[in-house]
Amino acid sequence: MKEINITLPDNSVRTFLSGVTPQQVADSIGSGLARAVVVAKVNGVLRDLNHKINENSSLELFTGDSPEGHDTLLHSTAHLMAQAVKELYPDVKITIGPTIENGFYYDFDLEQTFSDEILEKIEHKMKELAKLGQEIIRHEVSTSEAVNIFGKLGETYKVEIIKQINPDDTISMYKQSNFSDLCRGPHVSNTSKIKHFKLLSTSGAYWRGDENNKMLQRIYGTVFSTKDALKAHLYSIEEAKKRDHRKLGKELKLFTFDEEVGPGLPLWLPNGAVIVEELENLAKEYERMGGYDLVRTPHLTKGALYEKSGHLEHYEESMYPAMDVDGTEYYVKPMNCPHHHKIYAAFPKSYRDLPIRLAEYGTCYRYEKSGQLFGLMRVRSLQMNDAHIYCTREQFKGEFLAVCNMYLKYFEIFGIEKYSMRLSLHSAEELGNKYVNEPELWLETEKWVREALIEGGLDFEEVPGEAAFYGPKIDVQVWSAIGKEFTLATNQVDFAVPSKFNLNYIDEDGESKTPLCIHRAPLGTHERFIGFLIEHFGGDFPLWLAPVQAVVLPLSDKFSDYAKLVVKSLKDDGLRVKLNDRADKIGSKIRQAELEKINYMLIVGEKESADGTVSIRKRFEGDLGVKTLDQYKEILNDEIKNRRLAHRKETATETE
Ligand SMILES: [Zn+2]
Ligand SMILES: [Zn+2]
Repeated sequence: MKEINITLPDNSVRTFLSGVTPQQVADSIGSGLARAVVVAKVNGVLRDLNHKINENSSLELFTGDSPEGHDTLLHSTAHLMAQAVKELYPDVKITIGPTIENGFYYDFDLEQTFSDEILEKIEHKMKELAKLGQEIIRHEVSTSEAVNIFGKLGETYKVEIIKQINPDDTISMYKQSNFSDLCRGPHVSNTSKIKHFKLLSTSGAYWRGDENNKMLQRIYGTVFSTKDALKAHLYSIEEAKKRDHRKLGKELKLFTFDEEVGPGLPLWLPNGAVIVEELENLAKEYERMGGYDLVRTPHLTKGALYEKSGHLEHYEESMYPAMDVDGTEYYVKPMNCPHHHKIYAAFPKSYRDLPIRLAEYGTCYRYEKSGQLFGLMRVRSLQMNDAHIYCTREQFKGEFLAVCNMYLKYFEIFGIEKYSMRLSLHSAEELGNKYVNEPELWLETEKWVREALIEGGLDFEEVPGEAAFYGPKIDVQVWSAIGKEFTLATNQVDFAVPSKFNLNYIDEDGESKTPLCIHRAPLGTHERFIGFLIEHFGGDFPLWLAPVQAVVLPLSDKFSDYAKLVVKSLKDDGLRVKLNDRADKIGSKIRQAELEKINYMLIVGEKESADGTVSIRKRFEGDLGVKTLDQYKEILNDEIKNRRLAHRKETATETE
């Protein structure tokens, strides 16, 4: 047998006999790697560990914690689940079982409904099958052979899939014991490599997603390379359920939807309205410091304006139908931009007036299909933290940098530690077609944006060919405290619209010039951002955002009058305080306040009412001792004024 050279990623070369498998190479390196490896790349192509290598090759080995390895584990576990279901229910028909982010599912056709007990039974069977150490073998067959194999097994769905494949193609199959499945692979080479998995839930799903087809039963599951990684993931699923903004929104009485108002049209309850108000105060404060001017614009507008702006041409399916007002078509506005352009144009401008920054928490209405509506994340009425900056080319970079810094400031205030920015650029081939035909302006603005991002110290990724029609843009993604991803907002440069609207200014030489326009909305919409904040904070808002900042709890009726005085004094200072003077025991009042996630509890009894003090309990921090009312106000005002983040319960994964 001939010898071949295997080159590893560190460029070391090892010699083996032809026919060596990636698993055997791993075995020769060390027992730890031999156990942990799940898949390999041979000359850059993903292969099973029992793939035979016959020529000099490069080899990369992946353990289950790499993206390649994890996907292979997920896929292999989906097959293991199908095998287990088939063993337990020989009548079942199997369909498809793809991987999804951090998980997999498989759809089955079976009379019996999968219950929680059945899921446990399947999981148990999977453990048994995994431990058998079944070898997983790939083989290739013609489509007609495959039809034959699955036909005999009565797997009609598989036959249907194969019949749609080009008959000249060969098909790869994976077999473990007597269970075969169609699959492109790769897979782990032995079921003993599948250890740390969990079946999560079931749901109904139509075959091929078509409601005219039969309803199948779907099982979701997941697998990880280590016990700790699986535990961490299960913990984050539980935590995400607890933090679901729809659930917390109801429990904390933040917002509601009403059938008679209409789907996708949220009603802010008093507690939610407090958060809206505080966010607007934050935006106004930073916009004032940033030299913005506030404007206000109507919700209704003539169709002619949207013809000019191009919305009716490009965006009509997201707009509500026109209404006839005295014979003229009017629309509810889907965006604030055209109105701000009109405000710019209301008076002649000179270079001395620029930059002009017009800000508004403008309410817009967008048509979302009812199936797309989702809590606060996808709604039909939205209030945007909108602003448009009109500036000269010389001013552009500084303006853009200031917007980036505003984002960073907000991330700091909200404790957003993980974010990413994507800079979408034009592509030269599409100029005049997909992109405004201004080649120099594109290159120039892209360069300024890039420089601003670098100077601002922001990490970003560049994506060519994804810009908006009228200029480069930045998309911002943020991650909540438990790692859930949200799209926050875009920040766009616009060099098409200002000329469409005849916006201009007179420059130093008396010439008329067109300004550049930046659209920005760092806090996105109230709806989406508050949805994000609810999940990010898990409902434990920092004091400045908290709907109720403190509750006063008298130890008994006798101290009600003093408690009322405390409430009044704090309210007079602008604090959001309430009284709980119900006849319940103090312990149950404290529990109630904890359920409502109120930041401070002020307990008052004999001593406090005699001394003019309060006994303070802070959420997650416990007893802070007795303070005079003035001392307490000072603590509160400091925390609010500096918009301090609440000291939160440890949300990191606990491993036992
Ligand atoms: Zn597969
Ligand atoms: Zn805009």
